[in-house]
Amino acid sequence: MSLTTEYSLKIEKCSQSKIQQVDFDNLVFGTVFTDHMFECDFKEGAWHNPTIKPYGPLTMYPSAKVFHYGQAVFEGMKAYKDSNGAVFVFRPEQNAKRINKSSKRLAIPEFPEDLFMEALEKLIALDKDWVPNKSGSALYIRPFVIATENCVSASPSTAYKFMIILCPVNAYYSGKLKVKIAEKYSRAVDGGVGFAKAAGNYAAQFYPTNLAKDEGYQQVIWTDSVEHKYLEEAGTMNVFFRINDTLITAPTNERILDGVTRKSLIQLAEHRGISVEVRKISVDEIIEAHTNGALKEIFGSGTAAVISQVSGFSYKDQFYDLPEVEDSYAVSLKQEMFNIQYNLKEDPFGWRHKIV
Ligand SMILES: *Cc1c(COP(=O)(O)O)cnc(C)c1O
Repeated sequence: MSLTTEYSLKIEKCSQSKIQQVDFDNLVFGTVFTDHMFECDFKEGAWHNPTIKPYGPLTMYPSAKVFHYGQAVFEGMKAYKDSNGAVFVFRPEQNAKRINKSSKRLAIPEFPEDLFMEALEKLIALDKDWVPNKSGSALYIRPFVIATENCVSASPSTAYKFMIILCPVNAYYSGKLKVKIAEKYSRAVDGGVGFAKAAGNYAAQFYPTNLAKDEGYQQVIWTDSVEHKYLEEAGTMNVFFRINDTLITAPTNERILDGVTRKSLIQLAEHRGISVEVRKISVDEIIEAHTNGALKEIFGSGTAAVISQVSGFSYKDQFYDLPEVEDSYAVSLKQEMFNIQYNLKEDPFGWRHKIV
């Protein structure tokens, strides 16, 4: 274990907030950052100097290992403001655990979960005015770890930086997605890093996703890497299929990321009495269900959009349309998540974590 035993988190406040310069009605996702960030360095076997400081550039040598061997993992989560100005984060302890699962796979030292939570709480509390109060808007939270040792030998870094940065974002209206089922490329393989939120997983997805975009699709539905027969994830989201009134999603494994939204939706659906099957689902099964009219909905799940509905998919040059359904599970489950996240309804599962 590479943990320090004691911390005292230092806070260096910025001299002047830049919040007045921000046009909160026209935020471009992920481009505007708050006044402060959290930074903590790992060296000589322990995490040192946890500090909240003004948001600003890092100075690093070009020999830092992250630039050469891609030792980098991240998380994505959101803080929401209710109508009384209270701020909540959705299930943050899940992300504190998951970043360490990712780190372990990339030979990065784990970050203490209690320090993760303390840093998160203090940073958001300090920048609480940046949490938008418009319905649908939120503060996107990006914790990440990078290898900082100045050395180009191909071995795990001995130094790392753990950081948290924050950006206010508006509701994610991506519209319905047209998706292409992967027949050649893979996002993840058995024994690989698919279950980790490794930066390189995203890099590896960009090229095949661009090819799909050139053909008029917005995302790729990833299939298993051996036979391209089983449906696994939609872009960088987990994926759900509704056949008649049953929701089906693939079990998490080495290739599938254990999404917080995915597991929350499973619980919400079951709570509502919807039948949920967590099992392998094949391309053949959804095509057959489409042919006989049983395939009602497909949607992706993830923190950014919560739920993204799919309007149709292509497979082997044929397009399968998914017309609007009246009692959409995607729409009602998204609304239920929204009600919990924005403190509009009771939270029977204890998912809201109050910050201020
Ligand atoms: C982050 C991510 C998800 C969604 O996870 P959430 O915890 O729901 O945000 C799903 N799939 C992949 C590949 C991801 O990187």
